[in-house]
Amino acid sequence: MKPGNLFLDSPPAATGAAADNQSGYGVHTLELSVMNYMGSVTAVIVAGFSIYRYQTGDVNGAVINALIVCMALIAMLLGRERRFVQYALILFGLAITAAALMSALLVSSNGLLWAYLVIWVNCLILPRILTLIFNALVILLLGLTFRLFESPLHHISWVTVAMLMAVFGLIFTNQLRQQRRLLAAQATLDPLTGVGNRRLMQQHLEATVAERRRSSDRSSTIMVIDLDLFKKINDNHGHDAGDQVLADFAARVRDVLRTEDGLYRMGGEEFVVLLRGMSASAAAEALPELHQRLSGSVEGPDGPVRFSAGAAVLNRGEDWSRWLARADDALYEAKAAGRDRLVIVPSYESVA
Ligand code: GH3
Ligand code: MG
Ligand code: MG
Repeated sequence: MKPGNLFLDSPPAATGAAADNQSGYGVHTLELSVMNYMGSVTAVIVAGFSIYRYQTGDVNGAVINALIVCMALIAMLLGRERRFVQYALILFGLAITAAALMSALLVSSNGLLWAYLVIWVNCLILPRILTLIFNALVILLLGLTFRLFESPLHHISWVTVAMLMAVFGLIFTNQLRQQRRLLAAQATLDPLTGVGNRRLMQQHLEATVAERRRSSDRSSTIMVIDLDLFKKINDNHGHDAGDQVLADFAARVRDVLRTEDGLYRMGGEEFVVLLRGMSASAAAEALPELHQRLSGSVEGPDGPVRFSAGAAVLNRGEDWSRWLARADDALYEAKAAGRDRLVIVPSYESVA
């Protein structure tokens, strides 16, 4: 993408808060621990079965068991890498669903009991639609295999309990996920503007610095923004008018950012923009244009609201607080030079 177009042809912008996968709160900690505990137990037990089958001459059974163990192990390994967590959980759901079906259909009707556990775990770890599909498969395939049941009463009881577990499991995890989202939002969003708060900013800056250490060719830029003479709005029109300006300003900035960028309120009338992947040359080209476009674009009670800004490109080996401090120094320079301007700290690196 051409740096000059960075803010013009962009998809709907995210606040820093929207990128909750990086917030530390959106990461599937519950799902992962369910997968890891159950995966370890499943792998040990099924591996045992696999060896037993092999020794008793049932090679097909042994291979199937070994496949299930492999899927569980691969899922657990994948789950260690944040960006693969969703795939890991789906693979794991697939492995335990297949294991429950095969255990009941190919080994013994005791597998019907394992199916209860699998139905519940699917609810806990899978997205809703996949939970529905996998659990419907388990209930239908096993429920329609009449030979697994000792009597009609046993049959009806199993199907009823399995269906109740599938329904209550879904309701339970739905509630759990809603509450988790609410808590995450409360912990990471600024209530007035809806953009990320200081805590989320720190998490995202730390993650960006860590990424820079891993892949040294990907730089990023932060811009610290401070509204000019904001106190006057409060003094002349009251705190509520000031609040409205803050909310309008945040919404305006959010509108022009890309999905991968972050916007945070540091406190008062100070905001931070995180421009992921933006190099020094891209910043030099795009940021002055961005400042020009945004400063004065929000109408306050006394006229256009202008702002000063300081930007800094992340240097290799630098920590997030030093990076932020350099951008803050640049902001101070912008204020001292007469406000309504942008100062970009020169970078000693020219890598993109
Ligand atoms: P400068 O151009 O030097 O930045 O001047 P300024 O008036 O913007 O800076 P100053 O730091 O003196 O004023 C910031 C004001 O922001 C002071 C404080 O009352 C106000 N403020 C801080 N938080 C909030 C808030 O949540 N809502 C409102 N309405 N005002 C706030
Ligand atoms: Mg200020
Ligand atoms: Mg100010």
